[in-house]
Amino acid sequence: MSTFKELGLSQNVLKALTDLGYENPTPIQLQSIPQVLSSKVDLKAFAQTGTGKTAAFSLPIIEQIDSNSKNTQAIILSPTRELAVQIAKNIEEFTKYCDGVNVIAVYGGSSIEDQIRKLKKGVQIVVGTPGRTVDLIKRRVLDLNSIQWVVLDEADEMLNMGFKDELDAILESTPATKQTLLFSATFPREVEDIARHYMTKPVEITSGEKNKSSDQVSHQYYVVSERNRYNALKRIADVNPDIYSIIFCRTRRETQEVADNLIRDGYNADSLHGDLSQAQRDSVMEKFRKKHLQILVATDVAARGLDVNDLTHVINHKLPDQIESYNHRSGRTGRAGKEGISIAIVTAREKGKLSPIERNIGKKFISTPIPTGKEICQNQLLKLIDKVHDIKINETEISDFLPSIYEKLEGMDREELIKRFVSLEFNSFLTYYENAPDLNDSEQMKRSADTRGKRRDDENMTRFFINIGRKDKLNPARLIGLINDQSIAKNIEIGQIEILDTFSFFELDKNYQEETLSSFQNNDVDFEGRNVNVEITEKKRSGRGGSGGSGGRRRDRDDKGSSEGSSRSRSGGGRARSKDRKTSGGSDFSGFGRKRSDSKSPFGGNKSTKRRGRD
Ligand code: AMP
Repeated sequence: MSTFKELGLSQNVLKALTDLGYENPTPIQLQSIPQVLSSKVDLKAFAQTGTGKTAAFSLPIIEQIDSNSKNTQAIILSPTRELAVQIAKNIEEFTKYCDGVNVIAVYGGSSIEDQIRKLKKGVQIVVGTPGRTVDLIKRRVLDLNSIQWVVLDEADEMLNMGFKDELDAILESTPATKQTLLFSATFPREVEDIARHYMTKPVEITSGEKNKSSDQVSHQYYVVSERNRYNALKRIADVNPDIYSIIFCRTRRETQEVADNLIRDGYNADSLHGDLSQAQRDSVMEKFRKKHLQILVATDVAARGLDVNDLTHVINHKLPDQIESYNHRSGRTGRAGKEGISIAIVTAREKGKLSPIERNIGKKFISTPIPTGKEICQNQLLKLIDKVHDIKINETEISDFLPSIYEKLEGMDREELIKRFVSLEFNSFLTYYENAPDLNDSEQMKRSADTRGKRRDDENMTRFFINIGRKDKLNPARLIGLINDQSIAKNIEIGQIEILDTFSFFELDKNYQEETLSSFQNNDVDFEGRNVNVEITEKKRSGRGGSGGSGGRRRDRDDKGSSEGSSRSRSGGGRARSKDRKTSGGSDFSGFGRKRSDSKSPFGGNKSTKRRGRD
């Protein structure tokens, strides 16, 4: 693989990239940087969010900017203010050691006078939203006569948002000699029209297959009745104590409602949508980036400018209307080499929307049962034990108190002590999920087994046993990653997955049965410190189409239970009511997805007790 240096970047830029921790170019950068450095031909790039496209277009432009001239030489158009700010910030970072190169982000909802003042000082690179850019051109403060590069970033999204007229106006007022770089994740007719109209024989590059989803993302779906949609969401959060997720909603109203409910029920969540003021949006995004928020409920557009690499889950509270939007959403996880899970919560009627998405992303959704109360309690308990294991003991501070503590606990043996400490922490969760109903749409799950499940549960699949399970921190995404790591065969089809406590099952294409066994054997696979052993096992005969769960054991609750209430009413209010913000700058969560009222320092230390509110 070529290095950034081999692509032709100068020492000052290379130094900035090293500071940022960029070691090697991403595929889109490998193609775009030398192309734009060496040619004035227009460029059309298929590139999704998270592929490194910002550096792909900005680095070769930065290299060629004439820092002795104050004229605006490059204009980068982006659909949202957040993305524009992000791009300008990246460019500032890339030009840290390049004297005299200035960049500005211009966007609506913010003082135009400030932007005009800065522009008048002379800025070579302008990053703008289409509306504000047109405004500044009309006011004759933004002079496009010296423009050499126009970048249309997320062109599909700009057109989706109705910026066609603005794009036309901007493109028409730039010199014919400019180079146009168009980056888009999808190429619907409107984008192709722009390309045809304003670009001359563009070179096409792609960061991978068009619309192909990242290999690092596994896609799951849960079938629920409409009234259980929100409760399913809560269970997904509860079964994943370390969740760091964006929940996508279709409208601002839906977004606010889901966020309000989650906050009411004690989750560390907030909302992000266009009805919030810019200051509110900035504040929420900052908290989410710093991981002071675990769950962000957002509309597609508002989440655009958010650059976060390590989301564990993307959750589609409702599927988007446009298939491409699913791709955008799920592409927010599984980035930077990490694995991620994209979840769709669907009703029986919405299930038909999955197949076109599967065709678009080139991957299958795995049908997954909604976790039972028992599974949730187990995961939360294991998390608690991990925390006990990892906690640092402050010997000096604690030593003065120990004698009286030992005295009080005298007579209790180890086993009883463990039980009591765990119960102290855990009783409210147990109570909350006691008699929790099965939320799976049972009729649907059955039909699922008859149709979708059957496709995989057929004679073409072999079922394998693997000696690792939930206790080894295995989940469907990690198992898929593990299977892919063995390079058994290209695009091998994976069928049902069933994760149990200490072992699991998965199905793979029967044609690769021997290769599967030998790959695992020969690679001497290790997972979380355990030597992995894979064996062929008998096919499961149950009618369930689900996977990732624990077999028939799940079906023991009836489905007539009403919806789950707020945690306040169930747990007596202890867990749910805290609205404290973590201010200690730590990036790790305090454990459960729910905020805990007792997470405040008992010594009244530095943790904020400020009430939550829009600021
Ligand atoms: P983008 O697609 O431009 O939004 O970039 C997605 C993320 O990848 C951002 O957090 C970038 O900082 C990061 N990134 C881009 N290029 C590289 C690279 N070559 N090496 C490491 N990280 C990168």
